Amino acid sequence: MTFSVHGLAVARGIAIGRAVLVASSRVDVAHYFIQPEQVAAEIERVRQGRNAVAEELQRLQADMPHDAPPELAALLDVHLMLLQDEMLTGGVKHWISERLYNAEWALTTQFELIARQFDEMEDDYLRERKADLEQVVERILRYMKGVASPVAPPVSSPRKTPQDLLLDDTVDVPLVLVAHDLSPADMLQFKQSVFAGFVTDVGGKTSHTAIVARSMDIPAVVGARAASQLVRQDDWVIIDGDAGVMIVDPSPIILAEYGFRQRQVALERERLARLRHTPAITIDGHKIELLANIEQPGDAAAAVRAGAVGVGLFRSEFLFMGKNGNLPGEDEQYRAYCEAIDGMQGLPVTIRTIDVGADKPLDKGGKDTHLNPALGLRAIRWSLADPSMFRNQLRAVLRAAAYGQVKLLFPMLAHRHEIEQTLAQVELARAELDARGVPYGSVQLGAMIEVPAAALMVRSFLQYFDFLSIGTNDLIQYTLAIDRTDEAVAHRYDPLQHAVLRLVADVIAEGERQGKSVCVCGETAGDVTMTRLLLGLGLRSFSMHPAQILAVKQEILRADTRKLAPWAQQVLAGDEPAALLVS
Ligand code: PEP
Ligand code: MG
Repeated sequence: MTFSVHGLAVARGIAIGRAVLVASSRVDVAHYFIQPEQVAAEIERVRQGRNAVAEELQRLQADMPHDAPPELAALLDVHLMLLQDEMLTGGVKHWISERLYNAEWALTTQFELIARQFDEMEDDYLRERKADLEQVVERILRYMKGVASPVAPPVSSPRKTPQDLLLDDTVDVPLVLVAHDLSPADMLQFKQSVFAGFVTDVGGKTSHTAIVARSMDIPAVVGARAASQLVRQDDWVIIDGDAGVMIVDPSPIILAEYGFRQRQVALERERLARLRHTPAITIDGHKIELLANIEQPGDAAAAVRAGAVGVGLFRSEFLFMGKNGNLPGEDEQYRAYCEAIDGMQGLPVTIRTIDVGADKPLDKGGKDTHLNPALGLRAIRWSLADPSMFRNQLRAVLRAAAYGQVKLLFPMLAHRHEIEQTLAQVELARAELDARGVPYGSVQLGAMIEVPAAALMVRSFLQYFDFLSIGTNDLIQYTLAIDRTDEAVAHRYDPLQHAVLRLVADVIAEGERQGKSVCVCGETAGDVTMTRLLLGLGLRSFSMHPAQILAVKQEILRADTRKLAPWAQQVLAGDEPAALLVS
């Protein structure tokens, strides 16, 4: 039966495919397709894993001390029984041979399926066996982790048209990821994988998970509440990333309608691609700088493809994630920054120092357990709390500046004391490189304006910095006191609130007065409904995910700032900025 689940639209487009339900704890399991000739080897890998775990359990049973509680022996019996259960083994074989999933993916998929059935059981005892099954599966996965896979590296799922999908029920259909929650580090892993779209139960429009989805340029919906409960493994689903809706088990008519829309989106993209080499100049001749936001050096290629004239925000924290506490050292970072510089082919790269904390934990699944993590040890505060780690990064950036054009940007500065501490660390990093005789380049220094305190004190901020970059994602969060990651208040998270617009307008105006460049690098920069207003407020530099650049450029080419400037002032002064915006 067809039904739909509503959430927040975070990344545009339509995806049609089969649902892959992934529990948050299992996202670090590899997901890729194998070749048909690898099926037998992959089934064998699971069999070996299962046998090894069975032997381990039998050994435990044999070595059990006489005075061990009887429950322990019973528990091992249950685990052994679950291990041999045909539902588990038969199901895993099915996913490998019919869908060509790799062994780990097949195992976790089948686990999710059985776990659902356990959840639905009336009997408490049986319901609790889910935890046992989970432990058994974890053991097999752990064993398989130690055994190299003989199969090929990840390959993409060939995309099919909805017409194909209607007629064809074979293995290589697009897959859509459905999860309760995904951390930014998880998302980073999925960037390498095969999914055509994703849906999560939680999250806000500018949560970092949503931001990474946008960078992947695949349709995505977050804050869909119970989506992961309502969808079953392998259900057909449509993700409408424009409307923020997931349609489950669509009828052929709905599928055909969305297939049509999917083709329209593809045509629109082709049309926009023609603007790639067109300079971003308004009707009245203002040249607008369109820069890219990237998370990894490899993203630079997409930035160049989209016609970005540089990187306005390299979120360097993504280099630090998922390393289990082994943070990259100076040399490793240096190489990553040089890779980004190479990728940008001589265009400038703005590297923001690490911004972890709040919804960007360093490790997968790790959550900041402080009461108010967004107000806690985040971004520059985190760096200043660990000066030697911070200077590792600063030295790496300074060295990269000898290799290409680099700008250095600091997140979440709030007041003069933090600025002075930060700049002192930069000086120290230079002195350390001097002492080592290592060459480094000159960098422009910039501050992110993302806390109201910084926006209010912008005049004095500009005395210290060469440029500013407004992080509207956080500026909105902190000005309105609305958690950017919380779907329960997402409807109140509004870039058009007067207080936010006033701060943004003042920062742009002060930059202009002092002749220093001001960029917006929050998600509003890539929101085409905001382009005219930002131009009208005097913004001349926008940084966004590569996927949004051409659509924003189209708006710029149609814009006349002589008309937009007085209109923007009217919007600022009006009671209802949102209403004026559509006029
Ligand atoms: C912002 O806050 O707008 C920003 C660009 O930084 P981040 O989204 O990484 O917090
Ligand atoms: Mg921010």
